[in-house]
Amino acid sequence: MIETFDVERVTPDDSRYGVLGASFNGRWAGAPEYVLLPKTADEAVASVQHVLDRGVRFALHSSGACYEDLIANPENRVIISTSQLNSVDYDPERKAFAVGPGITTADLYRKLYEGWHVTVPAGVGPPVALGGQMTNAGYGALSRQLGHLVDYLEAVEVVIADADGRARKVMATRQADDPQRELWWAHTGGGGGTYGLVTKFWLRSPEAQGSEPADQLPTAPRELIVSEVAWSWDQLSEESFGKLLGNFTAWHERHAGVDSPYLNLFSALKPRHISAGEFLMSSQIDAATPNAEQLLDDFLAAIVDGTGLTYRVDVRERVDWLAHVTAWASLGGDGWEGKGRFKAKSAYLRTAMPADQVRAMYRNLTDPEYDNPATLVEIAGYGGRVNTVASSETAVPQRDSVIKMLYLVMWATPEEDAAQLAWIRRWYGEVYAATGGVPGVGGANDGAVLNYTDADPLDPALNGSPIPWHELYFGAAYPRLQQIKAKWDPADHFTHALAVRGRN
Ligand SMILES: Cc1cc2nc3c(=O)[nH]c(=O)nc-3n(C[C@H](O)[C@H](O)[C@H](O)COP(=O)(O)OP(=O)(O)OC[C@H]3O[C@@H](n4cnc5c(N)ncnc54)[C@H](O)[C@@H]3O)c2cc1C
Repeated sequence: MIETFDVERVTPDDSRYGVLGASFNGRWAGAPEYVLLPKTADEAVASVQHVLDRGVRFALHSSGACYEDLIANPENRVIISTSQLNSVDYDPERKAFAVGPGITTADLYRKLYEGWHVTVPAGVGPPVALGGQMTNAGYGALSRQLGHLVDYLEAVEVVIADADGRARKVMATRQADDPQRELWWAHTGGGGGTYGLVTKFWLRSPEAQGSEPADQLPTAPRELIVSEVAWSWDQLSEESFGKLLGNFTAWHERHAGVDSPYLNLFSALKPRHISAGEFLMSSQIDAATPNAEQLLDDFLAAIVDGTGLTYRVDVRERVDWLAHVTAWASLGGDGWEGKGRFKAKSAYLRTAMPADQVRAMYRNLTDPEYDNPATLVEIAGYGGRVNTVASSETAVPQRDSVIKMLYLVMWATPEEDAAQLAWIRRWYGEVYAATGGVPGVGGANDGAVLNYTDADPLDPALNGSPIPWHELYFGAAYPRLQQIKAKWDPADHFTHALAVRGRN
């Protein structure tokens, strides 16, 4: 048994204190008394026991990528960082890859690729860790082809807090006869920092056969053909901009089936405010796809079809897949430099973008009163294999969406906070004006993306719809998640603004 005092404490006089527990978002700063840094699962149990015994408010941290102040928040007196639980091993007993929550996306891709030439559809942020990414249902450039990251979650080891205040490790798997199966299910998109502290994820394809490690996860692509094209705002009118957005979103609706020849193609259209001068579309296709070059050309042609627009080709090349996914993908273009504060919002889209939403998008992005080029809406491809999994199989209910959208504004100083927040809130509120200022559920939209964490829908002043925040993120999964929460964290020790509230 490991005693609490064996777990390393990082105090404010330690230079690592400023990193462990910190947020990527310069708006947030915590002031924990110390950060606990467990190096093993038993140390993680001791860490949780320590905070339970002290009765202090605490938070879990893996990389600090969370967009809101769920961790870096002065109310959290102790942070437990799982950044050192970052191993990747093949577990022959489970025929699955055992992965620590502190592994970064870049290290995960590298270790799986170099060790076994396999991969998972994780995200596009190399320094983002798995802890929150998995539990909030990560997705990435391979998701149309391979599905959600959580579709590969075979099992999870979690440190939970019993009703009597004892911390202990629990193993939960997706096996139908596992009595702990509901706890596994909650970790397929039911939210990080909500049920307990994850010490390990096991990854395996649901359809995997045999016992060869390389057969237990999808083979990683070897090369990609990548394309980056740009449009200048000078050449765009409301009509051509609208047609471009319509083409992009309608294309994804048309090609959401797994029988589409474009299943291996991923693209993100990234309109920015007119003060940026131009915006990009980044696309990629697995180079091994038959006719890959032609498919990419046909896709590009479909996006500009009928717009009267041409595009500037900035990049068109074959690249090594591993080098591509482990390198930092910039947001594209200029205007982001020195801007460390940000606000993000999001939406799922099930169909081509409705005309009223396109109009509001154009109006706000060409707003002459605003002049921050560090503004982007990333309209990214989804659907494909993601859509083949039933909504109830995992805690990701938005299984018939074809697009994910990330709204992002970045700025430099606290003095700008109020104006920048007001602007992104107005932009988003106007796009979704027909549904009370937030994306609707079950119509053209289907709520918002949990990993693009935004606490605004909790605020009635910013959510004028009858749709509660939890329906936007968890949809019909919420009541089931509430029961799991009530069972596994009855005293609500693991909590934050966007955590599921328990109910029997
Ligand atoms: C540059 C960038 C790129 C991104 N790209 C993508 C992308 O392509 N796809 C995508 O899906 N998302 C993406 N995201 C969003 C990202 O996945 C989320 O912010 C995610 O929640 C981060 O997880 P984390 O553990 O690294 O972050 P943290 O901020 O450390 O944690 C986030 C949440 O998870 C909880 N948590 C952390 N560790 C544990 C643990 N061990 N056990 C239980 N709960 C834990 C925390 O308490 C918190 O609630 C991106 C974010 C950034 C900043």
